[in-house]
Amino acid sequence: MNKQSRLESVAKEISCCAVCKVGKHGAAVPGEGNADADVVFIGEAPGKKEAIAGRPFIGRSGKLLRSLINEIGLQEKDVYITSPVKYLPDRGTPTRNDIAHGRIHLMKQLAVIQPKVVMLLGRVAAEGVLEKKVAVAKEHGSVIAEEKGIRYFLTVHPAAALRFSKKYKPLLEEDFQKLKKLLAS
Ligand code: URA
Repeated sequence: MNKQSRLESVAKEISCCAVCKVGKHGAAVPGEGNADADVVFIGEAPGKKEAIAGRPFIGRSGKLLRSLINEIGLQEKDVYITSPVKYLPDRGTPTRNDIAHGRIHLMKQLAVIQPKVVMLLGRVAAEGVLEKKVAVAKEHGSVIAEEKGIRYFLTVHPAAALRFSKKYKPLLEEDFQKLKKLLAS
């Protein structure tokens, strides 16, 4: 089976997964993009718009994320975009259990794609994926882990850059420039 078909079977597993749906609602949001991507962007959990469309990052944060991806010379069709949590949590914020369970599906997706770099968008992505405490303010803009040939690069969540734009938007933009260099290295 090729990578695209393998990703589609993970997406099917997600859409049939009863555990994923506990305390959450809306359509499954497995992720989208290139099964052969060099870089995978990982957020937190789908929002309301995403849970209607079944697509990740299509709201305000998504607009910012997608424009930054384009600014470093990539197209959305070149990358893969997803989250540890695959459904909209009833309370908006995912629980530890939501993240720990969603990680199982996420790891399968990463095992198929085998990207060079995973861009961790904020604390939930970083701690969810790496299963360790991460200080985003201190460690952003750097590779914070390297496992099975994948480099995990940390930055802030685009929603934080929109909410605290003076502080975090320039930081997010700089981190994307660093990501561009990392991908070229
Ligand atoms: N925020 C996320 O982390 N993921 C989405 O898909 C949308 C907003």
